[in-house]
Amino acid sequence: MIKENYLGVDVCALNMEEVLDEVDNIILQKKPSFIVAINPEKIMKAQKDENLRNLLNSASIQIPDGVGVVIASILNGGRIRSRVTGIDLMINICERASKKGYKVYILGAKPGVAEKAAKVLKNKFLGLNIVGIKDGYFKDEEEVINDIKEKSPDILFVAMGSPKQEYWITRNMEKLNVPLLMGIGGSLDVISGNIKRAPKLMRNLGLEWLYRLIKEPWRYKRMAVLPVFLCKVLKERFVR
Ligand code: UDP
Repeated sequence: MIKENYLGVDVCALNMEEVLDEVDNIILQKKPSFIVAINPEKIMKAQKDENLRNLLNSASIQIPDGVGVVIASILNGGRIRSRVTGIDLMINICERASKKGYKVYILGAKPGVAEKAAKVLKNKFLGLNIVGIKDGYFKDEEEVINDIKEKSPDILFVAMGSPKQEYWITRNMEKLNVPLLMGIGGSLDVISGNIKRAPKLMRNLGLEWLYRLIKEPWRYKRMAVLPVFLCKVLKERFVR
């Protein structure tokens, strides 16, 4: 699998279809693997945090989730030309799961949200087998782990925000014995209808960040990293 590296963090040069093919391979092989979504914010955080950097690089697949990663690849002469967003990948994995009979477990978000999202997904993909649902504000971690083990899913989606969900996944993946684990951030809030996503045109133009900025202005600090990130990528390429 071809991976590019930006400021020490790996990103897979795969499009959506290629990621989905990898998902099939992972489930076939049954060796616990996890998918992480990479955006400039995470890469910048990982600059100051070696543990986080190692964790991101230890994933089997790092999807190019942010438009900033695509721009970085273009500037760097890389091969990444389209985003593979966490939410789109999650929805596509659910579609594949419904066709291939993979069992899905959803963990995360506020009480009731995952149930609502599961209903939406089951209506969209007939036959989707969601074997377990739990919210992300549990007290007894052992109980959650035992429930997942008992239900024995092929895919576990964890929606507890980043990097909390990624630390939770890596800490527990060996004992859970689930082939595919993936952190999905706020996806359940969107799928359940609690939060609206940017209109498709804005998404296609790479302007989802602008929509979120208007809707959730307090996120501006998180987004301000983009120009700094791109400058650093250019510096790494041309100033050695
Ligand atoms: N969340 C959770 N448990 C926690 C903290 C957060 O289940 O202990 C959920 C929260 O309800 C929300 C999601 O994790 O559904 C985080 O969404 P956000 O958009 O902040 O995550 P990001 O995509 O930015 O990582």
